[in-house]
Amino acid sequence: MGKSKYSYRAENILEKTIDSLAQRREASVIVYILLLIFYLFASYIVSTTAGSDKSVMIGEDTVAVYVFTGVYSSVANLCIILMANFCGTIGFITSITAILIQIAMLLSGIFVRGNYSSLPGLVANIVTAVVVYVIFKKNRKQERYLKRIREQATADILTGLPNGFANSELIDALVKRKESFAVVSIDIDGFKSINDTVGFDMGNRVLIEIATIWKGIADRGLSRTLDFITRINGDEFTLIIRDFGSYDDIIKTIEQYKDALDRKINIDGYEFYLKASFGYAIYPIDAADGDAVFSHAVAAMKEVKRLGSGERILRFSSELLKDGNKLIIDNKIRDALQNDLIFFNLQPQYDMTHKLRGFEALARMKDSEGNVISPVEFIPAAERLGLIDEIDLMVYSKSAMFFGRLIKETGADIVLSINVSVKHLMKTNFIDEIKRLLKESGIPADHLEIEITESILLESPEKAIEGLNELKNMGISIAIDDFGTGYSSLSYLNSFPSDILKIDKSFIDRMNENDSSKKYVEAIISLAHVLDFKVIAEGAEVQEQLDTLRSIDCDYVQGFFWGRPLPEKEAEELVKSM
Ligand code: C2E
Ligand code: MG
Ligand code: MG
Repeated sequence: MGKSKYSYRAENILEKTIDSLAQRREASVIVYILLLIFYLFASYIVSTTAGSDKSVMIGEDTVAVYVFTGVYSSVANLCIILMANFCGTIGFITSITAILIQIAMLLSGIFVRGNYSSLPGLVANIVTAVVVYVIFKKNRKQERYLKRIREQATADILTGLPNGFANSELIDALVKRKESFAVVSIDIDGFKSINDTVGFDMGNRVLIEIATIWKGIADRGLSRTLDFITRINGDEFTLIIRDFGSYDDIIKTIEQYKDALDRKINIDGYEFYLKASFGYAIYPIDAADGDAVFSHAVAAMKEVKRLGSGERILRFSSELLKDGNKLIIDNKIRDALQNDLIFFNLQPQYDMTHKLRGFEALARMKDSEGNVISPVEFIPAAERLGLIDEIDLMVYSKSAMFFGRLIKETGADIVLSINVSVKHLMKTNFIDEIKRLLKESGIPADHLEIEITESILLESPEKAIEGLNELKNMGISIAIDDFGTGYSSLSYLNSFPSDILKIDKSFIDRMNENDSSKKYVEAIISLAHVLDFKVIAEGAEVQEQLDTLRSIDCDYVQGFFWGRPLPEKEAEELVKSM
């Protein structure tokens, strides 16, 4: 796999940094030339003074010229040693060549002309040659050592990607050059549960696989920008994007990295469906220095996680700096619970002949000004605040009271489906709450359905199975919500006491894009049928999806095409019009 021009450019910057860190500096060309001139000059003096019978006056004394031969010969050798040590390979080659020529000349002087007065010079030159050789060996060793330090200092051991140090060095270098770039902070969703359920080794292999996929994009230059991907730690990665024409290019590049992950990944027979959250900030528009641009990207990524909505990419905005943002939603939740501002909508579910199967109750919340807030925003906040069970119960009791009355009045054979959060299901009194709900609303148990997400099963399988079995024994049905967004494999569903599989909207969205996506949904449906599950397709929005779902034997559909979430009055009219 070749490297993009960018990889080289980034590595160049890094290499310079590490060299300066390791404090090994090679002398400049000027020093090399100066040493060479000194050496040639000293050698010239040596050749003209050797054997001369002239003399010069120093003060009052007369000194024979040949006395200077030894002095200049030492200066020449010193130049050679300095060159070998400080002027890299070229210095070494020059010095070893010079010394060998000198030795050869002296040897020929001794053996051809019988000039034994060169003997001390010969010994001195041989000593110098040995010194040059030792210096060369020592430098080579140091270079290898430096190379290793360089690799260790900048590479992440697990994945082989550049690490956090490399990342911040590059950011600093780009800031110094005033080059515009985007920092993208990336976090793998639900990675902890992978580690918890299949172990660290498998978790590590998942990280290596992710790194390989992303490195492939960066190295092959598949995006139109110059990208540098690093692993910071755990399941956190960072992408630096350069050379973008417009801000749209940044988003396109991020989408490429996002989409590359958006498929089934197979490792040792385990199937993983990975998703990641991407937050980004642009230098110098969103932040004026390297630290800030990085931390702003992280803040944007955390916001993506907090919102937990379908949108996986978010650019930093100054709003995120105000922790007040969080505080506002927290206060709205408390306010809504106190002032009875939590209510519900009912979204119809149909079989393939368009016969009403029932409704899913979806939580809604109003703030004091009457704005309706999405559950995508307030459910995660309520979980964080430990208020999710209060919200759930509010939705359950309101929707169940309404639904109980409705089926009593109309005699309609329909089900009510309610959502439960992990944190709520794990509460010891959850079963008692449901029993009370059935009693107070008068809904027969086989007309109530509880939707759980895969994460419930992953976080505490035994406890979840125990509770779910008890519910099932009461006659309540259990649906697995958002199926496919975790990393479940169908085979392990066999051991869970559930009856319905709700295929996540993202699969339905892609189903008609290509044959393999369609086949994938088809396979889920037929396997689910083998395991005695009924299947609901979530989020069907167009006729074409409906046609496909019919052709691949789906049982039920819930989506905007046949019905949006309705206020209770409209839901009542719908049932009465059947
Ligand atoms: P979910 O249980 O998967 O509910 C389906 C979500 O998909 C609903 O969003 C629904 O409005 C939306 N949807 C259905 N069909 C379509 C379609 O054709 N197109 C599009 N674009 N969207 C469609 P909503 O109401 O925003 O709920 C979001 C999530 O909030 C739910 O996802 C559920 O996980 C959670 N939630 C909702 N109500 C409750 C509740 O009472 N308790 C708990 N714990 N969670 C709840
Ligand atoms: Mg649901
Ligand atoms: Mg769902």
